[in-house]
Amino acid sequence: MKNMSLENIAAACGGRYYGDENKKKQIVTSITTDSRKAENGCLFVAIKGERVDGHDFVSQVYREGALCVLSERELTGDELGGSYILVESSLQAVKDIAEFYRQQLDVKVVGITGSVGKTSTKEMIASVLSEKYNVLKTIGNFNNELGLPLTIFRLREEHEIAVLEMGISDFGEMHRLSKIARPDICVITNIGQCHLEFLKSRDGILKAKSEIFDFIAGDGSIVLNGDDDKLAGISSVKGIRPVFFGIESGREIYADNIESRGLSGIQCTIHVCEEKSEESFTVLIPIPGRHMVLNAMAGTAVGRLLGLGLEEIRNGIGKLESLKGRFHIIEHAGRTIVDDCYNASPAAMKASLDVLSEAQGRRVAILGDMFELGEDSALLHAGVGEHASDNRIDLLICVGDMCRHMAEAAFNSGGCREVLQVPTLEALLQTLPKLTEEGDTILVKASHGMHFEKVIEKLQEL
Ligand code: ATP
Ligand code: MG
Repeated sequence: MKNMSLENIAAACGGRYYGDENKKKQIVTSITTDSRKAENGCLFVAIKGERVDGHDFVSQVYREGALCVLSERELTGDELGGSYILVESSLQAVKDIAEFYRQQLDVKVVGITGSVGKTSTKEMIASVLSEKYNVLKTIGNFNNELGLPLTIFRLREEHEIAVLEMGISDFGEMHRLSKIARPDICVITNIGQCHLEFLKSRDGILKAKSEIFDFIAGDGSIVLNGDDDKLAGISSVKGIRPVFFGIESGREIYADNIESRGLSGIQCTIHVCEEKSEESFTVLIPIPGRHMVLNAMAGTAVGRLLGLGLEEIRNGIGKLESLKGRFHIIEHAGRTIVDDCYNASPAAMKASLDVLSEAQGRRVAILGDMFELGEDSALLHAGVGEHASDNRIDLLICVGDMCRHMAEAAFNSGGCREVLQVPTLEALLQTLPKLTEEGDTILVKASHGMHFEKVIEKLQEL
């Protein structure tokens, strides 16, 4: 890891080095907080988590060959198997070290935030940029004040671009993430209704997300969803004029001829307007949902900013792969299961219901509570119920306390053939085998905390 000697690391985090002075100039091979990933030459950072305390594994990681340990308490006796750096807070140290390391590297950083679609957009942008560059991207959802540093620690000199997801739930967090990531390109997908509990209103969310610009590079770029009214209002930040994308025309990047190809994806023509020229290409995005058109446009915008040709961008979009939990399609026992259970918000649920409405055979939606929606939660759940009814979903199964409102609204609107209300996940799992039949297309979606991955597992046991 470039310039990551023990002395530089200690200096970066204000820690105190204890151990062999001759070792201080040695460079670590990797940095990890997971004792199972400790390897020869690594720095192991001991973090006290909710369930596990990393400090309990210190002697073990020395045995695995760790060069050094970063610890919040003094190490003594048997556990002291080598040198260590003492800090007040390991989490703060991780952030400081990541901030230092990022600045050692000649890598362009694309930082992505927004209320919904961060991971999907990150995957899209990485897929596009991989056509031309050696790209490192956030794995899964490692987007917070621990996940972002850990992602940065995976960077090596051969990486040309880092595509980083940045997620927050309160004010000040994005400021800190931006300080670590120092994005060259900032992308905001939308300002929706997530995390209303802390951020109160969409204006609050806009303000919190806009902290991503706090440490943008001087020659940086900003890519925004122009169809989002809050983002469309941003005309310039630090003298940088944003590039807007949107389905409505009048944006630098816009899309038309949007045609759903059912569960195979969605096709569209993307137009790129630059100075006086306008060019376009038609592409089949292999993951369904109108929102994927927005994500593909975000990928196009970033691709153009980083010098990709339209053909490269088109190929990159076409190679996008779905991730478990995010509209991941599983064919099993004559049923098509749409595993969309990673997370949910009202907008995302409605988008997924739109796709389900085009499926062949009986359309089944198993939807669970959406969390962190603040005082409008009941209304927002009801809104999804109405949407399911408008989309004529054949069987709507609503699971959880808040989903009562969804079931009620769907039932009253009358568009679904059958609406079931199930109080808990356990109750659902018991009856589930009886509820589905061959030929069904089954959408499974809820907030992460509802543990709907268990529904997917159960369906795969049929
Ligand atoms: P988290 O806050 O959990 O990290 P996220 O912002 O990374 O969420 P994704 O996981 O990408 O969001 O997507 C969440 C859901 O939103 C998915 O189920 C997907 O179908 C839908 N989605 C994806 N992209 C968009 C978009 N641009 N606009 C609206 N919904 C989207
Ligand atoms: Mg995410």
